[in-house]
Amino acid sequence: MTELNEDSVVTLDFFARDEEEQQDFLRQTWCNECMEMDLGMKNPIEYSTPDRVWIEGECVKCSSKVITEIVEEEE
Ligand SMILES: [Zn+2]
Repeated sequence: MTELNEDSVVTLDFFARDEEEQQDFLRQTWCNECMEMDLGMKNPIEYSTPDRVWIEGECVKCSSKVITEIVEEEE
């Protein structure tokens, strides 16, 4: 993420998503510190660039930054 030009990054409202979708994204995580998946995420913030969308939050267990890429389905 750090290689991105910050000007092109837009912050989105994660909580504007469906409740169900939110829960899925908050559950389906990978923490590099814990080396475990699906520990959960808190304080999510959604970002987007013209190319991709992702959510950044904190690991529920160790509070390290966790990132979940969102793959939008093509219409
Ligand atoms: Zn962790």
